[in-house]
Amino acid sequence: MHHSFVCDKIFFTRSTCLLITAKGHRMEADFSVARERMVKTQLIPRGIKDRRVLAAMKKVPRHRFVEEALWREAYNDHPLPIGQKQTISQPYIVALMTEALELSGNEKTLEIGTGSGYQTAILAELSQKVFTVERIRQLMTTARNTLAELGYTNILFKAFDGTLGWDEYAPYDAIIVTAGAPKIPEPLLEQLAEGGRLVIPVGNRFSQEMIRVTRKEKEVFTRKEFGGCRFVDLIGVHGWKP
Ligand code: SAH
Repeated sequence: MHHSFVCDKIFFTRSTCLLITAKGHRMEADFSVARERMVKTQLIPRGIKDRRVLAAMKKVPRHRFVEEALWREAYNDHPLPIGQKQTISQPYIVALMTEALELSGNEKTLEIGTGSGYQTAILAELSQKVFTVERIRQLMTTARNTLAELGYTNILFKAFDGTLGWDEYAPYDAIIVTAGAPKIPEPLLEQLAEGGRLVIPVGNRFSQEMIRVTRKEKEVFTRKEFGGCRFVDLIGVHGWKP
């Protein structure tokens, strides 16, 4: 208490520059408190248990993936606009999908729908390498810059129709689709490694069911459902028509 009082006094009397730096630090500290609260009030009570997922959600600065005017809202319990009529998913949905992927840290992970790059950062924390595909080049470029600024070096980007997967680096141990699909795109099943998991929202344009498909053996796939959700459209050859 005493310490912080003294610091404030020094910053106020000595220099504006120090004051600004102090303010910046204080903002970052506020956001880290907001993240902690997000995990405690939005994720744990709804059943997210994977400690690595909770740690990643506590670590990744979600506010950096939205425009500055929305920073104060970044840790609230809802999706946010990211431009181009797209959205960054609600924190709980990001945690739910990530947990369903059952990442242990050694995975080659494919993400369809980079968007802001927030989910990409969570995947990069929890996998060995992330391959991410986004159909809107401008979103991909912004996401790539944000992720580079934050220091991620284990992510490859591609501006492309992700309903076709990313053949070159297949098979993948984990595949996540963060846009709503009318059906599971066949190429994604083909590019899934044996033992691999695919998590994807499937349904009509207004509501979808979160589905996980596990490739038990080459020709054996099992399926589990994780509840209702609503995503923007997955648009492409094996998705909705533009
Ligand atoms: N995971 C993102 C959410 C982005 S919203 C985040 O954390 O911010 C879904 C994204 O999927 C949009 O950016 C949209 O442009 C993209 N998308 C839709 N269809 C796609 C396709 N066929 N291939 C790649 N990206 C696609």
